[in-house]
Order: sequence, then structure tokens, then C-alpha cells
Amino acid sequence: MNNIRQLFGSMVFNDAVMSERLPKQTYNALKSCLKESKPLDMSTANVIAGAMKDWALEKGATHFTHWFQPMTGVTAEKHDAFVSPTDGGAAITEFSGKELVKGEPDASSFPSGGLRSTFEARGYTAWDPSSYAFIKDDTLYIPTAFCSYGGEALDKKTPLLRSVQTLNKQAMRVLKCLNSKASRIITTVGPEQEYFLLPKELFDKREDLIITGKTLFGAKPPKGQELEDHYFGAIKTRVHNYMSDLDTELWKLGIAAKTEHNEVAPAQHELAPVFASVNVASDHNQLIMELMKKVALRHDLVCLLHEKPFAGINGSGKHNNWSISTDLGENLLEPGDTPAQNVRFLLFLCAVINAVDDYQDLLRISVASAGNDHRLGANEAPPAIVSMFLGEELDGILSAIADGRPYSKRAGCEVEIGVKVLPHFTQDTTDRNRTSPFAFTGNKFEFRMPGSSASIAGANTVLNTAVAEELRLFADKLEKSDNADETARELIRLSIIEHRRILFNGNNYSDEWLAEAERRGLSNLKSTVDALPHFLDKKNVELFTSHRIFTESEMHSRFEILTENYCKVLHIEALTMLDMARKQIIPAVSDYLGKTCASLHVQTQLFPDKPLRNALDLADKIGTKLDALILRATELENALIDSDRQGRAIDNAVYYRNIVIPAMNCLRYSADCLEQLTSRKSWPFPTYKELLFDL
Ligand code: ADP
Ligand code: MG
Repeated sequence: MNNIRQLFGSMVFNDAVMSERLPKQTYNALKSCLKESKPLDMSTANVIAGAMKDWALEKGATHFTHWFQPMTGVTAEKHDAFVSPTDGGAAITEFSGKELVKGEPDASSFPSGGLRSTFEARGYTAWDPSSYAFIKDDTLYIPTAFCSYGGEALDKKTPLLRSVQTLNKQAMRVLKCLNSKASRIITTVGPEQEYFLLPKELFDKREDLIITGKTLFGAKPPKGQELEDHYFGAIKTRVHNYMSDLDTELWKLGIAAKTEHNEVAPAQHELAPVFASVNVASDHNQLIMELMKKVALRHDLVCLLHEKPFAGINGSGKHNNWSISTDLGENLLEPGDTPAQNVRFLLFLCAVINAVDDYQDLLRISVASAGNDHRLGANEAPPAIVSMFLGEELDGILSAIADGRPYSKRAGCEVEIGVKVLPHFTQDTTDRNRTSPFAFTGNKFEFRMPGSSASIAGANTVLNTAVAEELRLFADKLEKSDNADETARELIRLSIIEHRRILFNGNNYSDEWLAEAERRGLSNLKSTVDALPHFLDKKNVELFTSHRIFTESEMHSRFEILTENYCKVLHIEALTMLDMARKQIIPAVSDYLGKTCASLHVQTQLFPDKPLRNALDLADKIGTKLDALILRATELENALIDSDRQGRAIDNAVYYRNIVIPAMNCLRYSADCLEQLTSRKSWPFPTYKELLFDL
């Protein structure tokens, strides 16, 4: 590819295209609506729609679609052609302002968690002008929010946009008190996306991968990730070709795919775009996931985005890098050269610390899913306990403030490599901590708990709202004070004293931390089932309703959707296991055992004085394990019979965790033992070794 600059954003109706194609008055009207968060009038929308249509037709588009993000976790679209027949059998192309700003998809088949009944089908999509329209597959995509007939949010974008609004409002109140000239803040996010790549022909041979996106069986291969040779390893040609094809597709859509590398587990990789405003970053992340899968197929590969596709090696996450900047381009989480004196920085830092401490449970809930339960708490991802890492320097500063001591800065030493020819540089004032769920990384926070397949909207909605609430409390005090600087310093001091329990710089994977966190009174919501009910705790309902992020009924609906989703995912996984066990594993092993026994029988007859003790023992072992497997399958089947009869959705979810998951684990254990005793030729689907190392 020779011209990145020409390619980048070529399929996006972005600011450059708008300023070129829209009449000045229309362009200015749109800009000021965006700046002041006001709706557009219909005549302006008509002009924009016309320009969009002309631009899209020139680029070869034939259709348009409102593109939205229902609670399914994936995006939704319904295409309409621009064509409109005229008298005499001809046709014209049409796209009105009304069609641009509002759509009316039938909402009845999307999850609503009881917000509406199936007979109340009407739903609306509303144009989100803060995220650019783009062309993909000959269709003009218009990013939209999705709500019910009564205006309740049925999607992930609406609450996110509401949270952006509330964070802006509260941050601006604080900034005004600190004499800032800024008129707006921007929440910036850069999500790093992890994924696995497999050869498609192997994927196609495994029902579990096809149906559930993860392996439900699979014995450990002789080698996993223990040699740590895959992380940042040389990228294989086939993978490189995939990555570069993917980059091209993303760049066309104005997505600044920037960093790519091999990850820790074999066959695992990562892609990170340059950060953008949170709403755009969230839309872009959805497109990244979609295109990762689509482009893989062109290379006869399959991209897995599941949080735990393989047992025994790392799963995939999505590190959510988050910060706030002003419209003047200042990053409010930039410590500068003298962080100890930087009151504005320390105040915003404290708002984040207070938010993470006060709403640990909500952050945990925002990443809760059946898939992510396999990651959190295993030694590969942060534990289910939320804590924050600030690093040595900031920790020193905060401790000094809390104790009323002056802070003495540690000088940045030169890094001594011991080779004269290498460049000299100074050490960063703080090291990194890879085990922390919420780490300060220089001028932003990295929230590491989100799972790889999830939308980042949920986690950022919580983060924005919780920080907005803490800033609201600060602003209430600052606005009443006649010495804002002094009040701010006092707020910083009190925040540290009250919330320092959430700060932890050590190893989050250690058992000592588990005990220490419990002593500190931090919450440890181990599984989705433990976490979800806290969504409806009084303090959380108050948070979301007071900032108008969710109504109480929207919160109940989300709780229902998430709980039901947990049950459904596990139900499908259990049925897939039963299917594979009965239709593939049991017949294959019986067959293998039959052949082995027949051959042993012949050998024993031919050589009666040479008893084949060990070989017979092995056949006996296979027979016994096979019998156990058959029993385990029956047990799992029985467990499923009662799975939806527990009462409320959350009771069903508890049943899945307590009864169904252990039954699935037992069945898997039996099958994995048999895999190790059965010939490769007889085993009915590709093994871990082939899936992970054959590319
Ligand atoms: P790491 O070394 O943590 O893996 P990467 O380079 O893979 O880092 O990803 C870091 C991510 O953080 C990128 O997406 C980057 O654009 C993003 N980022 C950098 N600065 C900010 C910021 N101020 N706000 C939000 N995200 C940021
Ligand atoms: Mg990275």
C-alpha cells in the first residue's frame, strides 16, 4: 500500500468532506449544534442528507442504514436503497433529512428486559452526529442511538452519550472554579483489542468453536505459553498479511489502527488504535471487531474474540485506556513536571480515585459476563477485586499530602545499560504494573478488566458517571468557597485519607493481596452471579438516576438482560458439550476401544504364553473412562432439566453457576483424559496442538 494519507478516512463523511461539500451556513449550524449539544433543525438536516447522499453515490453506495448497538452486544443494521420509482418506470435517488435523523426499526425482537412487550413493536433510531457516517459494503452507515416508543434506551450508545454529557457538566463546574478557559471536556479512550487467529479448516471441524466461539473440550498440549516466546515474537507471514489487510480496511473507515503485536498465548494477537473521544472509540471498537472477523475469512483464518477460547492459556481482554482532556487540548490527567504542585491534576486524579473506590462494584459489574468469568481471578488477568495502581511517584506525593509532609521528588536516574554505543535516557519515575485492574500509565488510566468481546460502552458509562458524581461533590464545595485553591487542596487531602484503601502497588495475583483486600473491606465479586445483583443496590440506582443515565426501569431491564444472557450462554455451551460428547466423542472412543480390544484378542490367541498385561490395563482404563464420560453426560443432561425452573432469572443464574458449570467441568475432565489415551486418528476433532500451533 503506497498512500496511507489518501486511503485514511476515504470512506468517511468526516469534517474535511463536510466543510468541502456543505454550504458554509449548514456546516456552521452543524458545528455549533455539536459544540453546544443541541439538536439540528430539519432544514439543516435536509441539506446534510442531500450532501451525504451525493457523496455516498459517488463512492458507489446504493443503500443507507441506521447503525445501532442493541443489548445483544453486536451491532444491528437494516438497509434501504436510495432508489425511489417515478412515473413512467424510471427512478430517482432520495435521502431526506427525516430519513437521516430518525429511523423506525421494529424493536420487538431485540432484548428489552421487560421494557416493552412484543406486541409493542415500535422503536426509534436517532442520528448521532458526534460519530461520522461512513461507507462499508456499498452502504452508507449512519451511527444512531436506539430507544423504545416511550424513549427508554434499548442500546449501549444512549447511556454512554448521556454519561459523556454529565461528565462534561460536572468537570466544567470544577474547571470554572479553577479559572480554566476551557469550554468543554472530551473523554478520550483507546481500547487495546486482543484476539486469537486459527486456520479456518480446523475451526470448521469443531462444533464448540462454531457454536460458542470457544473450545469446550481439549487436553493440554505438551507446550502452552510457558516459554513466553510468543509475546512480541516475530509475526508470521500469514498473520502479517492478515494484519496489513485489516489495517487497510480500518484506515479507510478513519480508524487509526496503530499498534499490533503477538500476545502472550500462542495464536494470540493484539491491535490498538490511537485514542479518540469515547463515543467514537466505542463505535470504532465495534467496527474493529466486525472487520477482524470478516477480514480473517479472506485469509482462510477465523478470528476468535471470546474471553477464554482455550483452557490453560491466557484469554483475551480489552484494555480500556481512559482520560479527560479539554477543548484547549490539555490532558487533565497529565501530571506535568511538578505533579505535587499541580492542583488541577491532583483534583481530577482524586475524583477518579474516589470514583473507583465508591463504585468498585459497578466497575466489576460493567465487565461481568459468563465468558469473562474465566479470566478475572485467573493468573493472567486482574482479579475480580478492583484496586488502583498509581506508581511510586504519585503514591509518594499522595502519602505526603495525606500526612501533611513536604514531598521530595526522586530524581530520574539515567538508565545504565553498560554499552557505550547505545543511547542514554532517563528512567521513568515509575515502573509499570501488569497485574493491576486499574493502572495509571503516565497520563491516563488503563482499565484492564473488560473482556475481549464486550462493547466498551458499558465500562465507560460507569467510569464517566462515577467520576462525574465525584466531581459534582467537589464542585458543590468549590462553588461555595472564596478560596478555591485552598478548598481544592483540602478536597485532595480528604480524598486520599478516605480512599487510600483502593490504592495498591503490589502483585494483584498473590494470595496475600486477597487477604489484604478483604482486610481493607474491598469488594470481591468473584463471578457474574455475585456481581450483577449489586447493580440494583440503592447507591447505584441513586447514582444513575440522579445523573439521568438510566431510569430505574432501564436499570431493571438491563439487569434482566444481563442475567438472562448469562444463563443462555451457559445453556448453549452445555448443550453443545452434550452434542459433541454423544455424537462424536463417545462413538469415536467406543470404536477405538473396540478395535484395540479386537487386536488384543487376536494377539492373546496367537501368543497365549505372552500375557499383554499393560496393554490390557490400558484398554481397561479407556473402557472405564468411557463409562465415566457416559455417566457425566447423563448428569449434565439431568442438571439442565431444572435449569430454568428456579424462579427469578437470577435464581436460574445461580443454579447455572452452582450446578451446571460443575457438571460441565466434570464432563470435560473425562473427555480430556480420554483424548490423551486415544489415537489422534480416532479423535473426532482437531486438538489444542493443531489449533494453536499449526498456523
Ligand atoms: P500498552 O503498552 O499499554 O500495551 P498500547 O500502545 O498498546 O499500550 O496502547 C495504549 C493505548 O492508549 C492506545 O490506544 C493509545 O492511543 C491510548 N492512549 C494514549 N493516550 C491516551 C489518552 N490521553 N487517553 C486515552 N487513551 C490514550
Ligand atoms: Mg498494548
